[in-house]
Amino acid sequence: MINKQLKLILVSTPIGYLGSGKGGGVELTIISLIKGLILLGHEIILIAPKGSKLPFESELVEIRLIDGIDQPSWQHQKKTDPVLIPSNSVLPKLWEAAIDVANQYDAVINFAYDWLPLWLTKTQETKIFHLISMGAESLIMKEIISEISQIFPSQLAFHTKSQSKDYSLKTDPIIVGNGFDKENYSFNEKENGPLGWAGRIAPEKGLEDAAKVARDLGEKLLVWGLIEDKEYASKIENTFSKEIIEWRGFLPTIKFQEELGQCRALINTPKWNEAYGNVIVEAMACGVPVIAYDLGGPGELIEEGFNGFLVKPNDIEELIKATKSISEIKRKNCRDWFEKKATNKVFAERVENWLYKGLNKKNSADF
Ligand code: UDP
Repeated sequence: MINKQLKLILVSTPIGYLGSGKGGGVELTIISLIKGLILLGHEIILIAPKGSKLPFESELVEIRLIDGIDQPSWQHQKKTDPVLIPSNSVLPKLWEAAIDVANQYDAVINFAYDWLPLWLTKTQETKIFHLISMGAESLIMKEIISEISQIFPSQLAFHTKSQSKDYSLKTDPIIVGNGFDKENYSFNEKENGPLGWAGRIAPEKGLEDAAKVARDLGEKLLVWGLIEDKEYASKIENTFSKEIIEWRGFLPTIKFQEELGQCRALINTPKWNEAYGNVIVEAMACGVPVIAYDLGGPGELIEEGFNGFLVKPNDIEELIKATKSISEIKRKNCRDWFEKKATNKVFAERVENWLYKGLNKKNSADF
């Protein structure tokens, strides 16, 4: 039975370096998990694109930086598009570096939502575990995830049940949620602040719906996030005046949570099967209740009437109604929910449990 201090290789997202914001929520997931795993005493080597930084140091973590071209993200490709590997791509280089040292480690954890690392699972002796970060955005990804789930079901984990339902899995999915460093988020008691919205500025995040709520209520919406889709962002800018949207930019976590904590509510309006929704939990960590579309992760993070409200997707009228009722939610409930369900400590414990179980399985015949 393996139940000991583990030596782990973590392979980062190939979409951008850690801190660029291009990788979306995955970036923070990786950083939080590393902190949680080292608190549990595990030793880590992080293999990540050049430029990546961790906001802390530890004797238990080493970073190996790899130069190369970013991988295009799957959510902006057509469902039937093939796998792309650009010239001088960072993705295969990250994996070459991982495979090079894999035999000195107990396991590899993959954070890339991409075909290559999943396929490699079939070829390596050291077990590769995959934390799947998106719903099924492409056919080829759906196929490889379903295939790996049949051969190595204990090596796949998902953030939420709703996300996992996008895939054809042969066994019950392993759900690990997500987690955030408690020390980075301060509870803010103030109840009468502005409305907020946070996320990548891209069509699947539905910023326009939150802006419509602000316009209807005659107030300002504070917006944080990386502009991923410039055309979409300028369309929003041309539709809603500066009196309605206040662009706050893409801020580092400490500054982001300080501003976010001043909001009376976060409005979360996904147009896709949101795998988790980091910003929802980050808001709750600051004591900010959340009103979200019941589409994917939000439905598993928001307890109706306790830490926020869930609304039928695309229903602006319901969104407005819920926003008007937000003072019914106690801000303390939101922080309590976060401390119980989504700190990086509880997240790392769930991941540790997943790894121990997976490492103790001999092979797919066990299932
Ligand atoms: N974020 C940030 N600074 C900002 C706004 C957002 O660091 O000013 C981060 C936030 O902490 C979160 C990520 O952007 O980790 C968005 O992740 P989410 O899971 O909400 O959506 P995704 O981009 O993965 O679809």
